[in-house]
Amino acid sequence: MAQIKYFSTNHKASEVTFGEALLKGLAPDKGLFMPNAIPSFSKEELNALKGKQYYEIAALVFSKFLGEEVPMNDLLAMTKDAYNFDVPLENVIDRKYVMRLDQGPTASFKDFAGRMMGRMMQYFLKRQNVNKLILTATSGDTGSAMAHAFYGLNNIQIAVLFPEKEVSDRQRKQMTTLQKNVQIIAIDGKFDDAQAMVKQAFSDPDLECLNFTSSNSINIGRLIPQIVYYIYSYTQLRKQDSDELESVVFCIPSGNFGDMMGCVLATKMGLPVKKILVATNENDEFEKLMKTHKYNKIEPSKNCLSSAMNVGHPSNLARLIELYGGNMDEKGNILKEPDFVAMDKMFVAQSVTDAETRETIKLAWDKYHVMLEPHGAVGWKCVEDYLASEKPSEDQLLISLETAHPAKFPKAIIDAIGVDPELPESLSGLEGKEEYFDKIEGNYPAFKEYLDKRYGWRK
Ligand SMILES: *Cc1c(COP(=O)(O)O)cnc(C)c1O
Repeated sequence: MAQIKYFSTNHKASEVTFGEALLKGLAPDKGLFMPNAIPSFSKEELNALKGKQYYEIAALVFSKFLGEEVPMNDLLAMTKDAYNFDVPLENVIDRKYVMRLDQGPTASFKDFAGRMMGRMMQYFLKRQNVNKLILTATSGDTGSAMAHAFYGLNNIQIAVLFPEKEVSDRQRKQMTTLQKNVQIIAIDGKFDDAQAMVKQAFSDPDLECLNFTSSNSINIGRLIPQIVYYIYSYTQLRKQDSDELESVVFCIPSGNFGDMMGCVLATKMGLPVKKILVATNENDEFEKLMKTHKYNKIEPSKNCLSSAMNVGHPSNLARLIELYGGNMDEKGNILKEPDFVAMDKMFVAQSVTDAETRETIKLAWDKYHVMLEPHGAVGWKCVEDYLASEKPSEDQLLISLETAHPAKFPKAIIDAIGVDPELPESLSGLEGKEEYFDKIEGNYPAFKEYLDKRYGWRK
């Protein structure tokens, strides 16, 4: 197969290699990078993956997208280092499973994409002998996932801005107890202020010498790792007694649709996915799009219990529209309609209320003794409805994603089922640790001054 290149969904920038797309993040025309061809897995290749370790499957998926850019041995070294934790597949009933993506260092599925992206960036930067400074603003969880993802890597520094009063003690401690190449900065302001400060720094010509890059969810380096767990879970759970590949239904609690795009790409690579249940919280712009074929983002987004999915305009939606033959610009205008008939065949879009989320945490516990947190519960509500309306056979394989650890949401769990979830190792032991962070005012001049003191752009 010819070497894959990466084009922009706005179609006004030239194609680049994976390494370039990774370090750029956003295309120069503000579009999102997409591969110009989608590699595939043959039936024989999928058959051969049973019993393989997660990191081996990850390296294989990456090699298909990177071709000659990175030798297999280097990929294996990176995936082995990134994926040093379990991926439990918990049986719920019949052949219905919950895949727990919550065993990484920050107990959220964002560890999967972040850790691999960090190692890939380090790899390419080392090869070019350059350094980069990652700037990111967080309202809590993304910042700690990214700080951990880049922690201790070479050629990369990361600075994370957070609104001091809007972040929980545990969220803050997950970031501030790291040090090394991680700088944490509290601002006296709101998350929106932090985000605006980062944005302005990116476009400030004075700061060009700092060689910024961003790590947000639109980076192609975060998308490819999100293909892997679909292929992994399917190949581990599928029946081995026939050569035919059985079908699978996935259910994905969704916000910015990065996770869901991983599943769509896995499907295009040959995974026999029958349906994708796209579960969102009360931000129901996707359910409405699928029903009416008209798109209206929700501004501002609604605050729901499943807080990491409070998204009113999914940043990866343009990629989905592109894959289905349409076109959406960076503002969310549909310039060309996608193939809604094909999308209808593949997706069940469902918005779940907070009340339903709470009920589902309780139902999963009472009925199956399975503990779900709010994001996973949004997903499982869609599974329950799908089982009731479609009545698939007991034999139908279904895998629903749990994207965070219940211990990150103790209040929601205690309220629903009266049980205080046990802290995983990654989250315990923070109490006694020393915290290191700087504090600045929540405005751009203060930030720019800080960047000079810390990283020296005035040299
Ligand atoms: C980010 C996040 C999601 C949403 O994932 P997307 O890829 O943005 O759709 C769901 N659950 C948790 C816990 C998250 O942190």
